[in-house]
Amino acid sequence: MLITLENLDQLAWEKGDGMLPLIVQNAFSGKVLMQGFANKAALEKTFESGLVTFYSRSKDRLWTKGEESGNSLNLVELSTDCDRDSLIALAQPVGPTCHTGTETCWDTEAQPHLAFLSDLQDVIASRKGTDPESSYTAHLYSRGVKRISQKVGEEGVEVALAATSGDKDELICESADLLYHLTVLLQSMDLSLTDVIDKLKERHAK
Ligand code: AMP
Ligand code: ZN
Ligand code: ZN
Ligand code: ZN
Repeated sequence: MLITLENLDQLAWEKGDGMLPLIVQNAFSGKVLMQGFANKAALEKTFESGLVTFYSRSKDRLWTKGEESGNSLNLVELSTDCDRDSLIALAQPVGPTCHTGTETCWDTEAQPHLAFLSDLQDVIASRKGTDPESSYTAHLYSRGVKRISQKVGEEGVEVALAATSGDKDELICESADLLYHLTVLLQSMDLSLTDVIDKLKERHAK
């Protein structure tokens, strides 16, 4: 169930003595960023400020993540589970979420498969404006939109040829090339995979 300022009282506060676990998930990659606890006042402050706010049991007060570090969590959507005793905030993080400086509080080896596309896009974005000699991505940016578009066209054709030849390994390689080059092209036009996914969702809704 979607939670708003209007239905906060419908949460099963009594189950957690006025405090429920609040999990924060990256709204784009789905990575789990951190977990804390929230009381009603913390959620009110979250909605009023647009920044995920917890009740810190160690500080014994409301705690807006990022209040000192600036590494805040912009709320996208808050929802609760089937029995309304646990919360998930989808958020867009500013900087690393963990106080140790890492992206998430869980230093797991494996991330969800789709989250890798997000990591790849971040790396691709970070190459903008860097020395063209320093990486292939930086080199592509320096060649401009026209050249990158040409690469996307070539890779698209290579995907089609691999598929028609029935070579699955080749199809995987060429699809990887296409996804990579398409991501670079989008970035070079100041667009991102989010824009594309939003369009897919829009069509799906129809
Ligand atoms: P911040 O809210 O990022 O300004 O951090 C303020 C303080 O909150 C830090 O010094 C840590 O003690 C604590 N803190 C920050 N981020 C986390 C986190 N992800 N999990 C647990 N504690 C945190
Ligand atoms: Zn539950
Ligand atoms: Zn942490
Ligand atoms: Zn290729």
